[in-house]
Amino acid sequence: MKTVFIGINSKYIHTALGPRYMAEYCRQKGLQAQLLEFSVNEPILSVLARVTEVAESLRSKAAAFAEEPVLIAMDVHIWNRRYVTELCELLKKTLPHCRLMLGGPEVLFDPAGTLARIPEADYVVCGEGEEIVAAYLQYEAAQEKLGTDGWAETQEDKGDALVKEPIAQENQGGVTAVESVAPGALQHGLSPTLFLREKPATGWPRGLAYRKTDGTVVAPSAPVIVTDMDRLPFPYPDLEKVVRQHKIIYYEASRGCPFHCAYCLSGISRSVRRRSLPLVLADMERIVAAGAKLIKFVDRTYNVDEAYYLPMMQYLAAMDTDAVFHFEIKADRLSSQAVEFLKTVPEGRFQLEIGVQSTNPAVLTAIGRKDNWIRARRNVAALLAAGNMHIHMDLIAGLPLEDSGSFRRSFNEVYALRPQALQLGFLKVLSGTALDRELERYGIVRMAEPPYEVLSTRYVSYKELRFLKILEEVFDVTANSGRFRFTLDYLIRQCNEQKVTQSGEQRATQTVASEKEDDAGTRDINKERSRKADAFVASVGNEKTAEDAFALFFDLTEWYRQKGLFGLGHNSTEVAELLFSYVKESHPDWLFAVRELLRLDVLMNLPHFKPEWLGWRDKINYERSSRFWRKEEVVRQYVPEYTFKNWRILHRQYALEEFLFDPWERKERSVFILINYSETGLTRMETNAII
Ligand code: SF4
Repeated sequence: MKTVFIGINSKYIHTALGPRYMAEYCRQKGLQAQLLEFSVNEPILSVLARVTEVAESLRSKAAAFAEEPVLIAMDVHIWNRRYVTELCELLKKTLPHCRLMLGGPEVLFDPAGTLARIPEADYVVCGEGEEIVAAYLQYEAAQEKLGTDGWAETQEDKGDALVKEPIAQENQGGVTAVESVAPGALQHGLSPTLFLREKPATGWPRGLAYRKTDGTVVAPSAPVIVTDMDRLPFPYPDLEKVVRQHKIIYYEASRGCPFHCAYCLSGISRSVRRRSLPLVLADMERIVAAGAKLIKFVDRTYNVDEAYYLPMMQYLAAMDTDAVFHFEIKADRLSSQAVEFLKTVPEGRFQLEIGVQSTNPAVLTAIGRKDNWIRARRNVAALLAAGNMHIHMDLIAGLPLEDSGSFRRSFNEVYALRPQALQLGFLKVLSGTALDRELERYGIVRMAEPPYEVLSTRYVSYKELRFLKILEEVFDVTANSGRFRFTLDYLIRQCNEQKVTQSGEQRATQTVASEKEDDAGTRDINKERSRKADAFVASVGNEKTAEDAFALFFDLTEWYRQKGLFGLGHNSTEVAELLFSYVKESHPDWLFAVRELLRLDVLMNLPHFKPEWLGWRDKINYERSSRFWRKEEVVRQYVPEYTFKNWRILHRQYALEEFLFDPWERKERSVFILINYSETGLTRMETNAII
């Protein structure tokens, strides 16, 4: 049987690692497999046309078997479930002889529910697919040789389809198959194009769920995993093409996670399996030699075993390449030896993604995380001080026990570190997770369909989460853009010092509070929330966070909300303008300083943006700058490698500007700043060097 593996990615630059591994694994076994990748943004009819064309061409090559079915296998994720569901329907309508096989995190824990929801699907892969799919194709080939369709003719009716009954022949490797019928599986009737049989012959792959004639689903009792990662192939046979298309190279050195966070599926199979280090390094050599720019390790927690990951990182750091390697780590698990090593890695070589989720110990306990925030903070601070890598940290809103006060504290503690990016995520409760069984306990209300995002909990209302969504957007375009550092630092300090009297924060608090008063049902919840917040403050000893950065983002978000500015996808020049308008309207006393600091941020990060309202003094700056660059000896005190080539190159590489507010001293006074664009650095100049 020929197979088409389909990966529906969330963005064009992504690569579908799962289908890639499966396709390559099958090819290694001598099975015919083709990989097709698309993105959810492509029109579904174009995707259908491409898939059916490829499937038909595969079939026509087997002239002797005109009716030979083609297997179409797809992996299903939160971002593509709707798309895949629709595609299944279209595929069965246009290719009635195809067999549809689904796998991936959205379906593997609920095969019966999946086959009920997607009646066109024939099989569900319950686990890691490589060996399961290959075994299925080998099974079909063997049955074809025997001249059977691989299924028993009939089986005695058991009389009760709901009985869960182990099937002896499926009981391999500790995984037992059970029968179950999903609610509604029979109500809609079964499609006539489905491949329904009573019972497969011996050799049916464990891990592959199928549907019987009465709609009963036979599935393994636990996901089946690949135990030996060394058996997996290199998933990029088309590496050069992928690199040419500037796609991200995803790579898996290990599978599984030893932790078991209540909202995550990765920890369900705790067994961590690793690919041998020499094989990983050989794969990396190959990827780097092809010119890949960004390699993302998708290992769920990369730094579990120092004896494994540290030599790997040391090797990658020593490679002669400008490629960037991205890892998801737990910062509290870095030993001092690992931190010391990371501080020496060439600048820009590594990116670290660190999931903090919350700094509140009670919240972390509720979600099954034993993270040590104090140690994590110390390690991250040391790495950020070294300044040689991009650090991205994550927080999640809507966690059990986390109310707005607790979230604000988590935010402030993480923001105080000034990572290059702080991503504010929202809790998603996936089916099959431990949290899915505790919805009632925490009063969690969530979307029933992907992305299963939480709408409210006993600790945080929908209105608060809705507000945080806008705050996330505001934070992303301002702080996470990295383009307004001086302006934001000043505004945070001002907000903290002046307590933002009669500002949006108060207005917003009053608005939210009065809205809540209207809703009598929320009063008890509010009381409970403030009790929890008090308990949390008591548990951390009333220690105040040094800086309440949240105050600024709250105030700015409220201004943004009142003006209806959210959801409009502003670019950075528009954001600069919005920041200016916000200060002009809400805090006019700060306008003088903000104009100067915003001009500095813009000059550094948006050099072609020259709006009049930023008060450029072009003529005088040009005269001073021309004088300065002519005094080579003075220039070399600031730019040791300086040699004059021509004015065009000089102006492209440097900017010299006077500001009337000192960003370091934070006071009104003249300061000259030299910006070196090739090093993205700033130099404060002595006034007498310029004048
Ligand atoms: S959230 Fe991360 S650490 Fe927790 S179980 Fe999932 S992969 Fe493991």
